Amino acid sequence: MSEISHHDAVIIGAGPAGSAAATVLAEHGRRVLVLEREKFPRYHIGESLLPFTYGPLERLGLIGRMKDSAFQKKYSVIFVQPNGRASQPFYFFNRYDRATVAQTWQVLRAEFDQMVMENARAKGATVLEEVTVTELLREGKRVVGVRARHRDGTVCEHRAPITLDCTGKEAFGALRQGWRVKDPFLNKVAVWTYYKGSKRECGVDEGQTTVAFVPEKGWFWHIPLHDNLVSVGVVAEGKYLSRDGVRDPQAMFQREVGQNLWIQDQLSVGAQTGPYHVTSEFSFHARHCASEGLLLAGDAFAFLDPVFSSGLMLALKSGVLAGDAVHAGLAANDLSPARFADYAAGLRRGIENMRKLVYAFYQPDFSFKKVIDKYPDAAGDITDCLSGDVDKDFTPLWQKFREFVPLPDDLPLGAPREQEIIS
Ligand SMILES: Cc1cc2nc3c(=O)[nH]c(=O)nc-3n(C[C@H](O)[C@H](O)[C@H](O)COP(=O)(O)OP(=O)(O)OC[C@H]3O[C@@H](n4cnc5c(N)ncnc54)[C@H](O)[C@@H]3O)c2cc1C
Repeated sequence: MSEISHHDAVIIGAGPAGSAAATVLAEHGRRVLVLEREKFPRYHIGESLLPFTYGPLERLGLIGRMKDSAFQKKYSVIFVQPNGRASQPFYFFNRYDRATVAQTWQVLRAEFDQMVMENARAKGATVLEEVTVTELLREGKRVVGVRARHRDGTVCEHRAPITLDCTGKEAFGALRQGWRVKDPFLNKVAVWTYYKGSKRECGVDEGQTTVAFVPEKGWFWHIPLHDNLVSVGVVAEGKYLSRDGVRDPQAMFQREVGQNLWIQDQLSVGAQTGPYHVTSEFSFHARHCASEGLLLAGDAFAFLDPVFSSGLMLALKSGVLAGDAVHAGLAANDLSPARFADYAAGLRRGIENMRKLVYAFYQPDFSFKKVIDKYPDAAGDITDCLSGDVDKDFTPLWQKFREFVPLPDDLPLGAPREQEIIS
């Protein structure tokens, strides 16, 4: 028989969502166990933070650590046409306080995720690395914990009244529940690598994220990191990137470098370093946020195309909110799925705002400039959404956008499973 341990909450995955939820629960005095398959520090893509990551980082007690870190400071985002013509930078400090929210960071995830995970440990969470969750344990329909394989090969049962799926885009629990829904429109491929010693801006613009266009609504991210490293990746439809039979990631990437003069110029000095990475099908949503004994957070709940770097902000925010909601449920001795309705509805509202911006971005004839030329005051709202201020009411902005492009309706997703059955 396998060993059994008991906790207030079991969290699968020690990425930003899982570690944030663990920190909050531990601070509330809860016995929380986090199971992480990898040994940290581990590589992860997703390096650009949004200003509105500030709130969750502050709640986790990490702002001081971030300020003292070597992470590259980021104040803006800029868009560059294939001919090298750049937009005005969208400076976050035109809208928010420069000393706090308006200054954010570009992070090497190996370092950032380890810091967030160690913080959960320091606050009292038990985090076990190199432990792979292989199964959700059930009693009837209720999830009562997980079965996991530890590094030494032993298989253990870790039981709790609630299990949080924070497994990122692998969405361990969501997949097993059959809850994963592809986004109907956002089906892209990304190829990326790193450059050392390539060109970068200076002063306040040194850490800006650049979104640089290639044909057919493809785009590069150019994210300056510390240690003179730059993360550069191209995102586009698979059939565009692989046109003329090109399948090799390096060949795909290097061909696109030639499609944007600004990217070509930035990478004309310095050296490419490390492997070329590829991923596809990275936008999806979970049909439900919770069922009896199970709750989703971070990418496991929803993940949007990375063009506006919303992933970490949403992962940290959902982790914090999930931690508070689970603590309240434990205190009330009621962890029924319905308790998580507000948690999910709030997250979905923010995701839908960001999703509208992403959909508009990918429409063939759309540009922010066209909207701002007609409605100069829209620049403020656009900057707010690009900053991750996604809980704001953007109805007036979307009305303006709809004069230029169709925008998607909200997806009727995310409600707790129980609630759907009742209604
Ligand atoms: C191409 C690309 C570019 C991106 N760029 C950005 C960006 O610039 N800015 C941004 O904010 N976001 C970006 N993202 C998104 C960002 O990477 C994610 O939103 C973020 O990592 C989500 O955090 P998480 O904690 O939900 O999941 P993760 O960070 O993926 O963490 C999940 C953890 O769960 C563990 N795990 C998985 N399965 C198991 C298991 N069975 N047992 C135990 N442990 C398990 C994994 O090892 C992992 O450590 C990008 C994503 C992609 C694909």
